[in-house]
Amino acid sequence: MNQIEFDKYLAKLKIASDYYYNGSDTIMSDSEYDTLISLCRNYSKENNIEDDFLNSVGMEINGKSVIKHINRMYSQKDIFTIEEALVWANKKKSKVFYLEPKLDGCSCNLLYVNGKLKSIATRGDGLVGQDITYLKDSILNIPLTISHTEQIEIRGELVISFKNFLNFQDSFKNPRNMVAGSLSLLDTEEFKKRSIEFIPWGLGFNRSKMNKSELKPFFSKLGFKPIPYTKIISELSEINTYYKKMIRERNINSLSTDKKKIEIDYPIDGMMIYINKHEEQSFYGYGTRFPLFSIAFKFPAKEVSTKLLGVDYNIGRNGNLSITGILEPIELLGTTVSRATLHNLNYINKKDIKIGDNVIVYKAGDIIPAIKEPFILSRDGSEKTIKITKCPYCKSVLNNKDTILNCSNIDCTGILKSKLKFAVSKKCLNLLNIGDEFINKVVDSGYVKDVVDFYKLDSYTILKILRPQLGKLEDKDFIKEIGNNKYSKDVLKADVIYNTILSIYKKPFSVILESFSLPGLGTASCKRLESIGILNITDYIEYLNNNLNTNNKRILETINNKIISNLKNIK
Ligand SMILES: [Zn+2]
Repeated sequence: MNQIEFDKYLAKLKIASDYYYNGSDTIMSDSEYDTLISLCRNYSKENNIEDDFLNSVGMEINGKSVIKHINRMYSQKDIFTIEEALVWANKKKSKVFYLEPKLDGCSCNLLYVNGKLKSIATRGDGLVGQDITYLKDSILNIPLTISHTEQIEIRGELVISFKNFLNFQDSFKNPRNMVAGSLSLLDTEEFKKRSIEFIPWGLGFNRSKMNKSELKPFFSKLGFKPIPYTKIISELSEINTYYKKMIRERNINSLSTDKKKIEIDYPIDGMMIYINKHEEQSFYGYGTRFPLFSIAFKFPAKEVSTKLLGVDYNIGRNGNLSITGILEPIELLGTTVSRATLHNLNYINKKDIKIGDNVIVYKAGDIIPAIKEPFILSRDGSEKTIKITKCPYCKSVLNNKDTILNCSNIDCTGILKSKLKFAVSKKCLNLLNIGDEFINKVVDSGYVKDVVDFYKLDSYTILKILRPQLGKLEDKDFIKEIGNNKYSKDVLKADVIYNTILSIYKKPFSVILESFSLPGLGTASCKRLESIGILNITDYIEYLNNNLNTNNKRILETINNKIISNLKNIK
């Protein structure tokens, strides 16, 4: 990083922070924010740059009523890998640690004097926070009186459960966002409707000297809702085991349809690791920004941001065009992602996504990478609109069918490639020796004009397809050339492919029939034909003629003599 980059990133961070705390919108993903701020902090440290923003832990308070915390409210040092966690834990004298979910909401501080709730303040910059005492009757699970009469600061998180968030998911991006946005509401009745609750995780000022593990029963006794899913451990290996368990819990939560019993129904973004014993906590104390007796082991981001470098088009078997974004590779939930779906042109236009944009990428259902939206504010004018009117394979003008672009050219090479890729796939014929690369060559070579041509390939033609340059030679020159030792591997490969194609005829008739991608003839229909005793093409044609509905008429029109004579080889 250089000074220019530092200034640019710092400005970006300040805007993002403003949005984060004051609006109900975000312009940067959490992981981008975390990465940028740690880069900027390192740079400022190395170059002795003082900046209040980088030193502060929370928001700036502009003309709002504030409360000074008695004990400073520190933020936690974040780590991201098990190696870092073990290095940290190994350096500690104690081997007894306390693990708990790091709730993802807004931290706040409750002050009780003589057993009565005196004030509620957000964390703010760690020293003073925004006074939100007026919400005391509107936040769930905050007792107004407690049986503990000494002055005490109780710290915890304002959160909304996934169950309650479901009613608001159209208005807010995520539960944390909703809590932050709600804190600027002056209408307490409206606030109450949002079911925001308080869950305690620690103490500020107090005289109790309790171990971390004693806090949970203590909070319960006082009438608070305890934090779920905690564990006390004495073996370091349990850190990783429990961390993985917690990630699994979190991933279940993100799928609202899951009927499994949910233990942590709150958004969490990591696992807290604490030294358990009070006196050891005091021994380690605090650094300039963080406590030294605890650490936040963050979860891998569910959303990351990266650059959209370009797009790739794919035509499905039905002629529908789907669009895939090509990304600057980035880690997301354990894999490197370099492609993500952009669905269709309608989606791209609605979200205003352009090539060159920084975009948020997530995994739909935690599996399929998808592009969520661009960071419109970070554009510099060099971004390009994604436009397509013609089929990228056959150049026919695309039709717009219910906002989905479709190629209706029956000779489209893109559609044929798609049909062949389906035919050889695990879902259909399961031909392991034939990959996408070969299918592309097969169609591009011009030898194969429809699916049935593929089944009639001989090893001589396959060789010509594998070596298209040689394929252009006269037959006798080609044979002479291919006899050369250096092509022995290709000859072998052609034989393997030829034998694989022959093996198709050993598959059940229903599977072969499905491999032609005939209109309206999917897995279920093919299986049904088999179940009613249709086991060869003669039976099938007879069946179609006896049941002449619209779809069967279409199939009869499509199923040409080439297909029929080919399938007659099957007994
Ligand atoms: Zn086309």
